[in-house]
Formats: sequence, C-alpha cells, structure tokens
Amino acid sequence: MQKFRKIGILTSGGDAPGMNACVKAAVHRAAELGIEVIGINGGYAGLIQNDLVELTEHKISNIVGESGTILYSSRCPEFKTEEGMQTAIATCRANSIDALICIGGDGTFRGATDMTLHGIPSIGIPGTIDNDITATDYTIGLDTAINTSTALIDNLRDTHESHARVGVVELMGNECGQIALYAAIASGAVACAIPEIPFNEDAAIKRILAHRAAGKRNMIVVVAEGLKADDGTPYAEVLNQKIKDAGMDSKFFRAAHVIRGGRPTARDRVTAARMACYAVEKLVEGKSNLVVCENEDKIDSMDITLALITDRMYKNKLKPGDLDRFSPAELETMKAICEKRRAEIAALYSVAEHIAQ
Ligand code: ADP
Repeated sequence: MQKFRKIGILTSGGDAPGMNACVKAAVHRAAELGIEVIGINGGYAGLIQNDLVELTEHKISNIVGESGTILYSSRCPEFKTEEGMQTAIATCRANSIDALICIGGDGTFRGATDMTLHGIPSIGIPGTIDNDITATDYTIGLDTAINTSTALIDNLRDTHESHARVGVVELMGNECGQIALYAAIASGAVACAIPEIPFNEDAAIKRILAHRAAGKRNMIVVVAEGLKADDGTPYAEVLNQKIKDAGMDSKFFRAAHVIRGGRPTARDRVTAARMACYAVEKLVEGKSNLVVCENEDKIDSMDITLALITDRMYKNKLKPGDLDRFSPAELETMKAICEKRRAEIAALYSVAEHIAQ
C-alpha cells in the first residue's frame, strides 16, 4: 500500500461526456481512503503553468450530468519536451502531488507513462468519444456520442422525408468507425462506411436507387470521419456527390463537435465512476503506468506501453522493433485483442448491412 496524501487529476486531449463524472467519483473514492484529489487545469498545460484547483465539495457538486470538463482540456506540445516534463515534475513536487490520474486518449496515456518514468506514478482512464483504445472495449463518452448522433439523424430524417432527400452524415471517431456504425444501426441507415471495412460504393448507390424506386423518400447514409478518398478528401463529401450524380437529391451533413456535448448518458456516468474508483484503488495498491479498461463488462487494466503498441498493431502501424520487448505470451494477448475487436466490428457491420437491405 502506498501512503499517498494527494493525487492530481487532469483531463487532456479531446473532451468527452462523462469526464466530469469521472473526476467527481475519483474525488469521493480518494476521500474515503483519506487522500486529497487536486485538479490540474487544462491537461498537462496546467502542470507546466502550475494551474491547480482545489476540488471542494462545491466545485464538484452537480457536475455528474454535465459534459465538457470542469478541469478544461488542451493540447500541450511543450509537455513533450524534456524541459516541459521537468517543469511538470517540479509542479508535482512543489504541490506534494504524489500520483496522477490522467483522463483522455492515447496521447494522454503517453504523457502518463512519461510522468511515471520521471517518478510520479500515473494511471490513465480512457475518456474519448472515439472508442479508439484497442485494449478496452469501451471509452467514456462513446454511448453519449452515439445517442446524440442518433438523435441528430432522427431530426434529419424529419426534414429529409418532407423533401425526399438522402442525407449523408459524417460522424466523428478519429480512425475508428464505431460511433458511425452504432449510430447507423440505431437510426436504420441505408448504408454505412467506416475505415475498418471495405465499402461497396456501387452496391450502396444501387440500393439507394432501388429504395427510392420502391417509394422510400428519406434515406440516411452514415460515414465515419476517418474514411478518406485517395486524395485525402473526406469520403462523406465524395459519396454525397456520387449520390447526386446518380440523380438523387442528397445533402451532406457534418455533425463534428456537436456530438461531443450533451448530458452524458447513464452508461457513461456509471463507467466513469467504476473506472475512477478502480484507478484510485490501483494507485493506492502501488500500481502505475496502467490504462483502465472495461472488457466483458469488468473493469480491469493493462500496462500503458502494451496497450499503445496493441493500438499500433490493430491499426497496422507497427514500427520496426516495436514488438521486441514483449514476451510471446504478451504478443499472443495483443493479437487476440486485435482479432476480437476486428471480429466485433465485422459482426456489427453485417448487422448494419442486413437491416439496410
Ligand atoms: P488524446 O489524449 O485525446 O489522444 P492528444 O494526442 O492531443 O490527445 O494528447 C493530449 C496531450 O497529451 C498532448 O497535448 C500532450 O501534452 C500529451 N502527449 C501526447 N503525446 C505525448 C507523448 N508522446 N509524450 C508525452 N506527452 C504526450
């Protein structure tokens, strides 16, 4: 057991609904264990600028249902430099911060690893709507983003029904198509294009024309933002034009950051609370450099380095030597995680295809 007096907590990178619920739960669980939690404003920038905030009862009351992050977020390139890192460590020492909880995505976890290596034990919690951390089935914010996207699409349908239009909806998700895929299924889209699965454009356009011939007025096509044409143009824009060229009235709609807002769903708040309690407990047990995961509805964790290389493996972005440090058992685990995720996405995609016919 570690004798921590004070844990610092920060939110970094892209914000996600449920980050506040996570902060609040960490404060409560730590308090129960006699540990103070201090907020760091603006992600790692707050450590460089010594911008800290006391997380009083007043500060954290009524935040469980609020999106955004009361700790604010930023992208802080300076933190990646050795000088920036030394300043961040000095801030921790000067303020008696013994450990860190870093809520964010893979960049945030890299920062957590650096802090751990420099003597401040740190744990990452996945807070991103993108669900693009391969080691975990779920990242805080995904469910809210899917629900917000589905509600937006429902609204689009209303007007597109009046005008007999096709709506090509581009949804965020970075290189991961899960928000698009879930929202497509939930809203009964006529087609869905994501980076992970080859998209049969001709078949989709034929299907749209056949549905129209059969009397269908509005149709929704969902495209993940990560899918680009060969020249880098967002594929949603390209597809919208092709649908127009096929003689249909089609409108392109980019939901963009709108789906990062909105009240977090119960699913996101509950996952945030579970992950926060787990992170505090692991730090107290003396563990660090972990990313908290939810797999098979259980909260567990994985070494951050292992998790980040698993991400690269999944995205076919491994660099020479990346796998050298891992044991055969770890390599098997990484491969199994990648295969599981590919299989899950393929299974969901086939549901999207079945219900679009
Ligand atoms: P996300 O956490 O959502 O992936 P970013 O990639 O922007 O978002 O990372 C958030 C912040 O984490 C960065 O602004 C930077 O301060 C820190 N960070 C990112 N990459 C690294 C790295 N390789 N080493 C140390 N810190 C990093």
